[in-house]
Amino acid sequence: MSRPAFPLPPNATIGIVGGGQLGRMTVLAAARLGYRCHVLTPEEKSPAAQVAAAVTLGEYEDPSALADFASRVDVVTFEFENVSAGGLDLLAALKPVRPAPAVLRVSQDRIAEKSFLNGAGVPTVPWRKVVTPADLAAAVGAIGLPAVLKTTRLGYDGKGQKLVRERADLGPAFTALAPKPLILEGFVDFACEISVIAARGADGRAVAFDAVENRHHEHILDLTLAPAPVGSEIAATARQIALRVAAALDLVGLIAVEMFVDSNGRVLANEIAPRPHNSGHWTIDACPASQFELFVRAVAGLKLPEARRHSDAVMKNLVGPEEASLWGDILASPGLIPHLYGKAEARPGRKMGHVTRLFPRGSLPGAFGIRAALAPLRARADALEADERFLAGHACAGQPA
Ligand code: AMP
Repeated sequence: MSRPAFPLPPNATIGIVGGGQLGRMTVLAAARLGYRCHVLTPEEKSPAAQVAAAVTLGEYEDPSALADFASRVDVVTFEFENVSAGGLDLLAALKPVRPAPAVLRVSQDRIAEKSFLNGAGVPTVPWRKVVTPADLAAAVGAIGLPAVLKTTRLGYDGKGQKLVRERADLGPAFTALAPKPLILEGFVDFACEISVIAARGADGRAVAFDAVENRHHEHILDLTLAPAPVGSEIAATARQIALRVAAALDLVGLIAVEMFVDSNGRVLANEIAPRPHNSGHWTIDACPASQFELFVRAVAGLKLPEARRHSDAVMKNLVGPEEASLWGDILASPGLIPHLYGKAEARPGRKMGHVTRLFPRGSLPGAFGIRAALAPLRARADALEADERFLAGHACAGQPA
């Protein structure tokens, strides 16, 4: 079996498991660096496949599809977490897989993830593993209420979790959530949600973008504000956490660490995602080297540049048919930088694209300015009420750095 020499030379082929928009934007960044990308996906006409040099259409568990894919690439990476770690092991026997399958395993299971984070000295909410109703009662005794009961695998965008306010909620929540085991987490009445994206190369050099604030609407990321309007200590702590997580995982690739800032200004890690992340899309337009370029560089063994931000930015996701229908208005709005993912059908809740608005560094506006800057997207008030509430009352812990 031939092993490629890193750094990969121009025209080498990066294999990407997964065909979504994260893969698409990775392919575009890889192309700028002179690499070809080969995508493995079961989905015909996937966003990534539309721009890739080649595609293997196949299931992630299918050994013959995996072997065919591996035979055509120089290195393998992945663009979403719910690929089978067993499948990645099979690929790892054939080609280098970056990040390693072991990293993916940690991120695929909330219990493994929280154990790992705490073991690395990273604070999280208090949590307990729950297999039986008796475990749940004991966990509530230890953590108290309210709390959040979650499945440990395959949860995303708020799916697979229930808020438990009082004891009467426990039985129904336990019954509704599957598969077991579950995890009970203390509820954080957070001041804001932030994230940091870090890249780490095989030589151990790591870089991290500035912390950003993320606002969700109906459990789906709606807005990212870069930088997060938090105090400089909180921002620094968040970056340190992401760099510590990357080092503790011996990561080669990219990682997003989602965190809560609680009302006392404490930073608690919530989730890790060892791949490009929606909260890093702003880096395409506001940084000389985006999260996608850093990802490709780490996977290809190239030197990592600084994760530097030349502008402040607001990123707004375009979700579902309603926001996708604003595309014409977006194109007609000077200053909105448009990104569309090539999805044929705009189903409710589906991420169809995003827009970024840049501001000179250090001049991210407040609520009023952000609303004005995203003007065509603020037109549909009903879908944006949550943001209105946020923007009106926006005051995360601490003051902007
Ligand atoms: P997750 O799937 O863990 O990323 O959770 C999705 C969203 O649910 C988060 O972005 C938070 O807004 C909310 N959430 C999750 N866990 C907690 C918690 N322990 N306390 C408060 N809110 C939470």
